[in-house]
Amino acid sequence: MSLIVQKFGGTSVADVGKIQAAARKAIRAQRQGHRVVMVVSAMGKNTDALLGLAGEICEQPPAREMDMLLSTGEQVSVALVAMAIHSLGAKAVSLTGGQIGMKTDNSFSKARIQSISTDRIEGLLDAGNIVVAAGFQGIDDDLNITTLGRGGSDTTAVALAAVLGADACEIYTDVDGVYTTDPRLLPEARRVDVISYDEMLELASLGAGVMHSRSIEFAKKFGVPIHVRSSFSDTEGTMIVAEAESQTQPVSGAAMTPDEARVTVLGVPDVPGKSQLIFSAIAECKIAVDMVVQNIGKKGRANVSFTVPREELAVTLAAVESVMDAVGAESVAHDDQVSKVSVVGANMATQTSVASRMFRALSDADVNIYMITTSEIKISTLVPKSQASIALRAVHEEFGLHQRPEDAQSWSEIKEDRDNAADVDALVSRLRDDALEALTLTGISITEKQARVTLHGVPDKPGIAADMFETIGDAGIFIDMIVQGCDGEDGSTSVSFTVDETALQASLDVANDILAKHQMRDVQGGTDIAKVTVSGIGLRSHTHVATVLFQQLAEDGINVEMINTSELQVNAVIDAKRALDAAEDLKRAFADSLL
Ligand code: ASP
Ligand code: MG
Repeated sequence: MSLIVQKFGGTSVADVGKIQAAARKAIRAQRQGHRVVMVVSAMGKNTDALLGLAGEICEQPPAREMDMLLSTGEQVSVALVAMAIHSLGAKAVSLTGGQIGMKTDNSFSKARIQSISTDRIEGLLDAGNIVVAAGFQGIDDDLNITTLGRGGSDTTAVALAAVLGADACEIYTDVDGVYTTDPRLLPEARRVDVISYDEMLELASLGAGVMHSRSIEFAKKFGVPIHVRSSFSDTEGTMIVAEAESQTQPVSGAAMTPDEARVTVLGVPDVPGKSQLIFSAIAECKIAVDMVVQNIGKKGRANVSFTVPREELAVTLAAVESVMDAVGAESVAHDDQVSKVSVVGANMATQTSVASRMFRALSDADVNIYMITTSEIKISTLVPKSQASIALRAVHEEFGLHQRPEDAQSWSEIKEDRDNAADVDALVSRLRDDALEALTLTGISITEKQARVTLHGVPDKPGIAADMFETIGDAGIFIDMIVQGCDGEDGSTSVSFTVDETALQASLDVANDILAKHQMRDVQGGTDIAKVTVSGIGLRSHTHVATVLFQQLAEDGINVEMINTSELQVNAVIDAKRALDAAEDLKRAFADSLL
C-alpha cells in the first residue's frame, strides 16, 4: 500500500476552515487507498507572534526556552487537525516531535536531525489512522525540545518521507509551485512543472523562499520526489526530482538577493594561511560568507573580497578588524548598497556562452558588474542595489525564462524518477543511521593541467565583462571558473579565469587584445595550477566545509589562488605540485563525512 506524506504550511492551517480543508485532503488520500502522514506547521503567523512575545519579556531569551516556546505552535495545529479529522469521521492521532522519535543534536533553534524511529508511526498507520506529526521540532539526548530553524517543517516532512520510504511528499503551501524567479519581483516569471534537486538547492540558498533548503538536501540524498502545490487551487504544481525540466535549456531559474554587502580586505600578504585567518574569524560569528574572490597577488599582496548579508555587515567588519594586525593587511573597504543577481541551470556546465550571454544582457541594460563568481550550475554577479531589478529582468528575458522550453518534460510525464535508485540505496546504506543530516561528501578530486589568466586594472564600467567573454568564446576557448573582484582603490577590478592548459596561449592572445582595447593594466597567465574539488550534498548549509578546506591547505602551506563554492562543490585553485598532497590531506580531514 502506498504511503504519502502531506505537509501543510502555516498559511494552509491558518484558521478553522483551512484546518478542515487540510483534514479533508488527507481523508481523501486515505480513501483513495494511501497510508497518510501529515506534517503540520504552526497556524498562520503564530511562530512570529510567539517570537514577539518572548522579545517583550527578554532581550535575549535563552535558546532552550525559545525552542520550548516555539514548539507549542505546531502542537496546537496537530491537535486541531486530528480533531478535525475525527469530526469528519476518520481516525487520526497527533504526535509531537518527541513522540515520532525525531532525535536531533542539541543546537537549539537550528538543530539537525540525527535519527527518526518509525515504529510508532507505522503501528498507528497499520491501525488505520492518519498520523498528524508536528513539523519543525525534535528532541535531543536529554529530552529537551529542539527546533530545526525557521521554515523547518519542510525538512520534517521530507525526512519522514525518506525514512518511511514514502511514494510521494506533497508540500501544500500558499503558492502554486516553483517559479523561474520570484513572481512578486517579476510578474512574467513562469511556474515550472519540474525542477531538479540541484537547481532547487541553489535557488533556495539564493533566497527563493519556497522551500527550506535542508529539506532539498534530504530529498536529494534519499531520492524523495517532492510535489509542491497550492492548498487553495487545483493546479498541478511543481515536481522537484533528480532530473531537470529540459535537457538543453542552459538556465532554469534566476534569483535576486537584494540586501548584500561587499567587503574587501586590501593588501593581504600573499602567503598561505592569511585569508584563512580572516574567514575563520567570520565563521566564528556563524556568518556565511559568499562570493569569495581572492585576487592574484601583486608585489606579494592580494585583495580578498567577499559578500555577506547586509544585516551581518557590522559584525563581519568587527571580526575582520580583530584579525587585521595578525593578517598584516593594509585596509578594509566595504559597500552596503549592492545586490546579487544569479542564474542557475543544470545544463550550464556543458554549454559555452552562458556567462557571456548573461554579461551582455546586463551590459545592454547598462548594469555595472562589481563581482562575478561562477560554479558548475550557477553564475552570480554583484551589482548596484539601485539596478538590481533591472538586472534580474534583463537576465530572465535573455534566457527566455518566461517561455516553456520546447523539450520540457511535463508534470504528467514525470513518473517516479527511479533511474538513480541504485545509487540512492547504496548511499543510504553507507550513511550512519544516527546521522541523517550529517554532511555527506561524495568525493574529493583534482583536475590537473589547468591554466589561469588574470587581467588587472579592468575599468569599472558596464560592458567590459561581456566584451571579454564574448571574444574568448568566439575564439573557441572553453572557460571553467571565472572570478572578478575589487583590485585597487580606484574601483578597478581584476578578472581571472581558468582554462585547460592547452588553451593558455590562445587565451593570452585574446586577453592581450582586450587589454589594448580597454586600456587595462596588465595580463598575467600561468600553468602549473590544479583545481581541488570537494563534492557533496549541502556544502553551504554545513558552513564548516570551506573553513576546514582553508585550514587544511594553510596547514600544508599551500596558497589558494582562486575559490568558488556552491551547494554541490567547493573548488580551490592551487599550485599543481601540491595538488596530490592537498587531496590526500583533505581526504583525511573529511574522513568522517566522505562516503
Ligand atoms: N512554524 C515554523 C516557522 O514559522 C516552522 C514552519 O513553518 O515550517 O518557521
Ligand atoms: Mg512555514
